[in-house]
Amino acid sequence: MDNETGLYIAGMKSQSFVDEPGKTVAMIYLQGCNFNCGFCHNSALIPMFTRESKMTSVEQLLESLADNFLIDGVVFTGGEPTLQPGIVDFVKAVRAKIPFVGVDTNGSNPARLAAASPHLDRVAMDFKTSLDNYPRVVGKDVNVDKVRESIDLLCARSREFGRVEFRLTYAPPAITVDDVMAVADHLMQAGFSGNHGSRFVIQQYLGSDGVREANRKSYETVVVDKLRIIATNVKEFQIPVAIRCQELGYFVV
Ligand code: SF4
Repeated sequence: MDNETGLYIAGMKSQSFVDEPGKTVAMIYLQGCNFNCGFCHNSALIPMFTRESKMTSVEQLLESLADNFLIDGVVFTGGEPTLQPGIVDFVKAVRAKIPFVGVDTNGSNPARLAAASPHLDRVAMDFKTSLDNYPRVVGKDVNVDKVRESIDLLCARSREFGRVEFRLTYAPPAITVDDVMAVADHLMQAGFSGNHGSRFVIQQYLGSDGVREANRKSYETVVVDKLRIIATNVKEFQIPVAIRCQELGYFVV
């Protein structure tokens, strides 16, 4: 994927009400991910190429968004958007026409994230687990130092100029309460701030159709009351925390 003039787009959801609080956004799903998380809810997007893969130009994307009058913004998600060099130019071009642009990332490409960040209204970075447990949960030989670099970059962004969501999907038994607390501790040490509406968001695992069938029942869907207890403990780390779940949507704790 070294072509900078287009993006491999696997699909688009014309309206999402849950990805960005208070906004209706179009979700652009990019093909390809360098991680292989067992609980991935978009597992069909993990391969870099599929038979249907074809490159979309900026003009084609803008044209397909032009009639979507109901949206407040656009979010590039995946897969892993920062794998594709074209993402920075796409973010700039879409932001010139649409008042809100966000990117979801796994944090593995801090350099490309740094290039896109000033043009984004929100960056959402997923922690997959505590950093010590990445190799086990992510299923690949991950460069955790790159992930650390992205965390530092986004903590600085949260303090200085823009909204950040650090997200962690709580999916026991792969993810434990100790992992959540280790992530919270890391964010506190890195100086994560609640400026600009930034939050650490604990997400409920849902065994949706996008999770590989063999894995779907390997993780537990935890009820909101338990998530609330975990989030209350996270507040001990003096970082801003929220929950995203099926029962109540997104709410700050
Ligand atoms: S980083 Fe995200 S898209 Fe990639 S495998 Fe993990 S959950 Fe799926």
